[in-house]
Amino acid sequence: MGYCFGVKRAMSIIDEGISSGGSRVYTIGDVIHNRQAVERLKIRGMVPVGSLDEISEGDTLVVRAHGVDPKILEMAKLRKIRILDTTCPFVGKSHDHVKKLADESSQVIIIGDASHPEVRGIAGRAYGGALIIDSTEEAGLVEVSRKAGVVIQTTYSRDKAMAIIEILKKRISDLTVFDTICQATMLRREATLELAREVDMILVIGGRESSNTRRLYQMCIDKGIKARFIETAGEIDPCWFKGCVRVGLTTGTSTPDWVIEEVLARLSTIDPGT
Ligand code: SF4
Repeated sequence: MGYCFGVKRAMSIIDEGISSGGSRVYTIGDVIHNRQAVERLKIRGMVPVGSLDEISEGDTLVVRAHGVDPKILEMAKLRKIRILDTTCPFVGKSHDHVKKLADESSQVIIIGDASHPEVRGIAGRAYGGALIIDSTEEAGLVEVSRKAGVVIQTTYSRDKAMAIIEILKKRISDLTVFDTICQATMLRREATLELAREVDMILVIGGRESSNTRRLYQMCIDKGIKARFIETAGEIDPCWFKGCVRVGLTTGTSTPDWVIEEVLARLSTIDPGT
């Protein structure tokens, strides 16, 4: 599967930015949730930093595919820091919905994980007034008497989002729902389930901090599919495949092709008879 559209696009923009030279290139936090890809970018000169304070005038700040709080962008502009914006257009849609809702004084509700950078970036478009909900229990406590609109973290579980929305609909009379769940993660989940019917075991490849990879693996476990979660080929233990005739591979949206190639190469060295 490899990179999704948004990560592929972001990596190509970053690649161009680094190759063009002229200024140092920084990111606040990791540019994507994949340690191996980040390490390669670091070798090429990209520097992950903790805050904007570590970046100087004339340097370049890469805005990652998850997007960023608009306050950081404003501050970067004031400090004459170049911006290389790789925000995925699908995340950008959530930004637009939220900004419009906030501008017309509707209550903004975001279904997602409050600690995820994408959700923090979306919430920043609501001028500090967004409600972030991550469970049906939290949805059951919502008290909103004005018009409200909902957006959903792009990589969120559809089943969980729908259960939360059902509760919100009962509690808010004027509620607009924007389905901002990304197709890339949904299609990957569907493809993985299809693949599981043809194989004895699934290897889910991706960064441990990648929420969509973790969800993909968790889905396999919840559905009773024999699966292992790996970041690199080096983690593979041949003992896992005892009794397996066919093994399927799937990946999170930020897993580079070369990591998948290494896994394939490693698998090809394992003797099926042992
Ligand atoms: S998962 Fe979807 S929203 Fe996220 S970067 Fe990829 S294409 Fe964009």
